[in-house]
Amino acid sequence: MVITDTHCHLYLEAFEEDLEAVMSRANAEGVSRFFIPAIDSGYTQAMLDLKGAFPDQVFLMAGLHPTHVKENYRQELEHVKTLLDHGNYCAVGEIGIDLYWDKTFIRQQQEAFRIQIRWAKEYGLPIVIHCRESFDEIFEILEEEKGNDLRGIFHCFTGTLEQAHRAIGYNMKLGIGGVVTFKNGKIDQFIDQIDLEHIVLETDSPYLAPVPYRGKRNESSYLRQVIDKLATLYNIPGEEIARITTVNSRAVFGM
Ligand SMILES: [Zn+2]
Repeated sequence: MVITDTHCHLYLEAFEEDLEAVMSRANAEGVSRFFIPAIDSGYTQAMLDLKGAFPDQVFLMAGLHPTHVKENYRQELEHVKTLLDHGNYCAVGEIGIDLYWDKTFIRQQQEAFRIQIRWAKEYGLPIVIHCRESFDEIFEILEEEKGNDLRGIFHCFTGTLEQAHRAIGYNMKLGIGGVVTFKNGKIDQFIDQIDLEHIVLETDSPYLAPVPYRGKRNESSYLRQVIDKLATLYNIPGEEIARITTVNSRAVFGM
């Protein structure tokens, strides 16, 4: 069985001490493909080191995270462009709009999102979207940029059924992780109405650990809890959840 974690920040300090053990536990659960979203240029070296340590299992994205769009965002975007021009990247991510933490740079966030979407199209890469309290703003830009040349993942999808259908309409898969196990996570109430071909698995580790680890550091081996929950909701074996979501991840990333 091959399980794919489409979104994990394994290069962050949270994993510095015991990354080998984290990877071993993931592999023991069948998780053997790790897709790594970027944040900003400050993490590029750590990401490259991670790729160097696990070259066959780890796939890097390039992108500027919306909460890191600040005064220097043009410089940061230049860095992303340089990476895309010269490196081997599987996606442009994570990118998007986040109005939960800070609305100061909303205009710049919108601009950075649009620019990075266009680069993804130019390179034939998928996008990985970070959307927090910004569905309207994200959909507005996707509506203008949509097309057969645009595909990707709505990372950590936490919207409504209607928003799920709309995202899927833009060639987006829904990234489902620990939130589906939360009592107040809401998506568990309708996710079975979404065909499994539209879903990929993710942890967003070290964040958003599933029940019963909620509040602790998340890691890829905990995808087991997410798979078990989805198996119950869809009433099909966990192996099928793993198989279909890995097939879906191949469709998005082309690998
Ligand atoms: Zn993330």
